[in-house]
Amino acid sequence: MTNNIADFLASIDQAARLSATLCRKVQSEMLSSMDKSDSSPVTIADYGCQALIHRAIMLNFPEHGLISEEDSEHLRTNATTDEISSIVRLVSEALGESVSIDQICAWIDHRGGADSDYIWSIDPIDGTKGFLRKAQYAIAIGLLQGCEPVGGILVCPSLPYDLNDSSSPVGTLLIGHGAGTAKKFAVDAELSESVASNTVTDSLQMRVLGSVESAHGDPKLVTGMMSTSKIEGGFVRYDSQAKYAVIAMGGAEMYVRPRSRPDYRENIWDHVAGVAVCEAAGAIVSDVDGKALDFSKGEKLLDNRGVLATSNETAHKLAIDGIKATEAAN
Ligand code: AMP
Ligand code: MG
Repeated sequence: MTNNIADFLASIDQAARLSATLCRKVQSEMLSSMDKSDSSPVTIADYGCQALIHRAIMLNFPEHGLISEEDSEHLRTNATTDEISSIVRLVSEALGESVSIDQICAWIDHRGGADSDYIWSIDPIDGTKGFLRKAQYAIAIGLLQGCEPVGGILVCPSLPYDLNDSSSPVGTLLIGHGAGTAKKFAVDAELSESVASNTVTDSLQMRVLGSVESAHGDPKLVTGMMSTSKIEGGFVRYDSQAKYAVIAMGGAEMYVRPRSRPDYRENIWDHVAGVAVCEAAGAIVSDVDGKALDFSKGEKLLDNRGVLATSNETAHKLAIDGIKATEAAN
């Protein structure tokens, strides 16, 4: 991997951290949400983070393209006067200068050059439902070169730095840009170290991650996979791309995300950052048939069936075999 990917990510690191602070302020001061057309919730924190991250990309890499979750039209149409003044105050506080709602909306809508070799894919808050519940959520900043995820920053403001130590600082930023480069940082402390996915090969010890929202997957298929492949380390639910962070940190061995319904296609901003961080930590990511994820189809993973992230080759084979056998039996 060329060094420039690491440099690109370093240029956006501060915006990622400012976004975490903005999210925490919204959680403590004014947690309210608006509904989007698909009934999913969105908050001023989603819009505020996207504005901060897009601004940083626009200033540093004006020619790069962006494929991101939010646009400003919904904010302008649905936000209350209070919500508009709050987002203006929060983004101004983050930047240390006074900015207008028009400027914020222009950053949210910035999409750069669609023909660029580099395309950023951003989910400013992945797991907004988890954010509203004060559970797990992630600020996900992914970078594609061509159609390959080559870099990612995942900020998980509610994830412990050490998953095995309940007294460790809460708030973890992960970054990765090629094999062997994955690293975690405590958001609020001077702590950092390299991370690697788990090498355990005993299926009885393997732990599986899934969504808190059962409707985002296929729980029966996952249960069938676990019993067929004798995966007995337990099933743990997390909201958001924090699941990719946990795999990269060695806290579980499988993140299984089958299609929730035959016509559901995954959004690329729900995966680019997590895939880049996981692969940098040594994990293997594919769809549930073992096919490579195809990020060449615009906003959606049109040609993949779900997503599967595993900590190593043995875990990957166990998951794929378990899914195949369960589907064959039904
Ligand atoms: P998670 O917290 O892992 O369930 O992921 C949250 C993401 O799930 C959201 O950002 C949505 O883009 C995505 N999502 C929404 N509806 C569905 C669905 N029916 N199937 C799979 N993913 C979904
Ligand atoms: Mg999302």
